Amino acid sequence: MPGGLRAEILLVGALAAVGLVFGVLSGHVWAGLSLGLALVVMRLLWVVARLARWLERPETPPSRYAGGWLADLGQRLRRARAAQRRRERRWLRLIREYRRAADALPDAVVALDADNRILGFNPPSRQQLGLRQRDVGLPIDHLIRQPAFIDYLHSEDWLRDVEVPASDDPERVLNMHIFPYVQGRRLLVARDVTRLQRLQAMRQDFVANVSHELRTPLTVLAGYIETLLDTGDELPDELLRILEHMHLQSERMRRIVEDLLLLSRLETTSPSEDQFEPVNVSAMLDSIAGVAEQLSAAEKHLIVREIDPALGMRGIPRELDSLFSNLVFNAVKYTPAAGVISVRWFADERGLVFEVQDTGIGIAPQHIPRLTERFYRVDVGRSRARGGTGLGLAIVKHVLLRHQGRLEIESALGKGSVFRCIFPTALANSRALS
Ligand code: ADP
Repeated sequence: MPGGLRAEILLVGALAAVGLVFGVLSGHVWAGLSLGLALVVMRLLWVVARLARWLERPETPPSRYAGGWLADLGQRLRRARAAQRRRERRWLRLIREYRRAADALPDAVVALDADNRILGFNPPSRQQLGLRQRDVGLPIDHLIRQPAFIDYLHSEDWLRDVEVPASDDPERVLNMHIFPYVQGRRLLVARDVTRLQRLQAMRQDFVANVSHELRTPLTVLAGYIETLLDTGDELPDELLRILEHMHLQSERMRRIVEDLLLLSRLETTSPSEDQFEPVNVSAMLDSIAGVAEQLSAAEKHLIVREIDPALGMRGIPRELDSLFSNLVFNAVKYTPAAGVISVRWFADERGLVFEVQDTGIGIAPQHIPRLTERFYRVDVGRSRARGGTGLGLAIVKHVLLRHQGRLEIESALGKGSVFRCIFPTALANSRALS
């Protein structure tokens, strides 16, 4: 027990005792005791009043008549208060630091509550999204009215992001991404991707132009090589071999150029509704499987067709033909002789399913996520030897995107692969048979 407190207890005890003694001596014990207690209460009230005054004005020292107790208690209270202030200052510093960091971000960051009302935003949100201080508390979809954004906000599928034109300038493109955090709250992060999009468009234009410019000289060269080959009998064997090699390579270049042109068309244009027509998928697959049989004649693959003849779909015929051919011909290319290739077309609860299964070389798991990148090949030598361009699966991916479809790949190294395309059921069209 601190010394000051002990002295105070002794003092009040002494006051009570004085009252009691006075009472005994005067023959009025209770009156004396009451007097002693009244003195105790008065002393305590006086000490409390001193304490309150000292806490209010800590610079004036506590009265020396208040005893060490008051100094003790005051000291403790002051220490607790100082620690509290230090904690508050630390928090304030931390909050300011976070705010400064958020303000330094070039991206717009908006905090939203569970009803999508604005809780706060950083300064770039003013310029990027046109937000004002008075907008705090308003629902964000009252201020950003682009349908693509509103759909995204309400879809709650926030693993993906969305790109929308800026409200004040349709030339500017904003990438919007929502990140949920605590208690239904969410952060909207908007980034200006106009420059990135322009660069991408430039790259696409460049590839398309180069491919286009290469097409004519290549056709001329291939034509001359073929003419020379036609007069093969008169040429020395060595020259004939060189010409055959040149013919093979020019064919390869022609295929690359054609694939690049197709890919850039798929990437840069969006399909219009009138490009979609009923496609007789079963007839298309029959003819592709027929070509595959011819291609694999020497290797004697068994091509099994499990095709629902009554199931057609609405789509862009040329693009679907390219998608189906790429997957079926890949199965032929990457399946050793006498392997089995199954081509399936059916509908189930997932949608319309096109599936090619092979008993080929298979693909190691680490390659699977990258297969649809342009020019990504597991084994460049094998792909080239089989006449591959490295663009087939990139074309497949884009055709699927344009038909709201998705690609699933299952594969086991050395055992074979399944490439599965799933289209929405809404694209089913049984009239395609007619
Ligand atoms: P490529 O013209 O090289 O075949 P693709 O884009 O069509 O290009 O395919 C990319 C790569 O995916 C191929 O190089 C090959 O390594 C792998 N691949 C595609 N289909 C199969 C398959 N059915 N079996 C094994 N590997 C495959």
